[in-house]
Amino acid sequence: MKQFDDIDIDVLRRYDKPGPRYTSYPTAPVFSPKFGPDQFREEIIRTNGPEEKSGISLYFHLPFCDTLCYFCGCTMLVTHSRERIAEYNRYLKGEIDLLAPMIAQGRAVEQLQWGGGTPSYLNPDEILGLSRQIRSSFRFADDAEAGVEIDPRGLTRDTITAFREGGFNRISMGVQDFNSKVQEAVNRIQPEAMTREVIDWCRSEGFSSINLDLIYGLPFQTLESFGDTVDRIIDISPDRIAVFNFAYVPWLKPHQRLIREDDLPTPEEKLHILKMTIEKLTAAGYWYIGMDHFAKPDDELAIAQKTKTMYRNFQGYSTKAGCDVYAFGMSSISQLHDSYAQNAKTLPEYYGAVNARTLPTHVGYRLTEDDQIRRHVIMRLMCDMELDRRSVERQFGIEFDSYFADSLGKLTEFIEGGFLADTGDRLVIQGMGRLILRNIVMAFDAYYEKMMKEKPVFSRTV
Ligand code: SF4
Repeated sequence: MKQFDDIDIDVLRRYDKPGPRYTSYPTAPVFSPKFGPDQFREEIIRTNGPEEKSGISLYFHLPFCDTLCYFCGCTMLVTHSRERIAEYNRYLKGEIDLLAPMIAQGRAVEQLQWGGGTPSYLNPDEILGLSRQIRSSFRFADDAEAGVEIDPRGLTRDTITAFREGGFNRISMGVQDFNSKVQEAVNRIQPEAMTREVIDWCRSEGFSSINLDLIYGLPFQTLESFGDTVDRIIDISPDRIAVFNFAYVPWLKPHQRLIREDDLPTPEEKLHILKMTIEKLTAAGYWYIGMDHFAKPDDELAIAQKTKTMYRNFQGYSTKAGCDVYAFGMSSISQLHDSYAQNAKTLPEYYGAVNARTLPTHVGYRLTEDDQIRRHVIMRLMCDMELDRRSVERQFGIEFDSYFADSLGKLTEFIEGGFLADTGDRLVIQGMGRLILRNIVMAFDAYYEKMMKEKPVFSRTV
């Protein structure tokens, strides 16, 4: 099925403005130190009640990297000290020992994710040691999905084998751009042959899903050069592809000053690069899930979207709806039924808390009833591309049109533009609405306008 008749650059231009990515609602800037370790502990115990024996998802943040990519927006630390990495792993194990006993035994891990930083910077022994610790502390479902972010630079096949032995079955790898001039400008030299070799290892080790990340908007990228990268990616044929917009925010990430602003493509060029990328990937048979994500039509994510079982959390789109996410490591964010908790953002604070045998929660948030209703509406639209008014009314005991009178007023321009249909019972994203999804769902965000007045915290939507 063809997803787009035509991608209108004018529409992309009009809606290219700062906005949340809605991996949570409310978004992280709303979190507060009033929600700390005691509140998080209460929430863990409260959501462990007999009626809450659902599966869980675990996230581990491994922050270390060998070198700094100048575009990086992650919470990461460059180190060449193996002792520093070993020390961090010991603290992760300490945090597991604190948290795991609080979670009801009956709850199985349905999803595990290691992100970073560079999880593949761990050596095979470290990978196996941490994997063993995790698997001996939690009960895993037989069909648990276990994903890890890897960087092919400096990787040996032993590392890939160790991940497989550690129970991982999904790989995600940053490529960003195959062009050597772009790679030099961002301090990430990753030849195409190296990327292909590591993917071959992953395939022969039996990883069931491979995701590749690209970034558009990097220095020296042109329509032609990035088109060449996209063609090569299509030839590699990963199961999923993420295409991220480079957020140039040197006031938040000072190392990005190492990239010369003059070398960046103009906003207009970026829009053309985005349009070309979507057209190439969808013409090659990839399904545009929404936001930055594409998947083969038979991939679980594309199927989950069609069957309305997809969900969104801090790792992006997920097939594991309803799982509480317990996150470990500095800066990581847990998401329980109606609360969020973020760990300390620096190593000394994180280590200090674990040493004191307290949860390293730094900030968090407990959702109000209004937050829960709005989160449901935003997440269903972001995942299903439609929203059933009556089901929201039944679930939350509200009269949709009067509760959301203000939001519905803001949707008029999207309905008139043909990006959203209102059938009376349902709101349905259509055509290019998928590309401006964040702008549409912002109508339901009760915090957006206030936060935009206070400080620029969000990346651009297109
Ligand atoms: S490898 Fe990843 S986390 Fe590390 S600096 Fe590069 S982009 Fe950032």
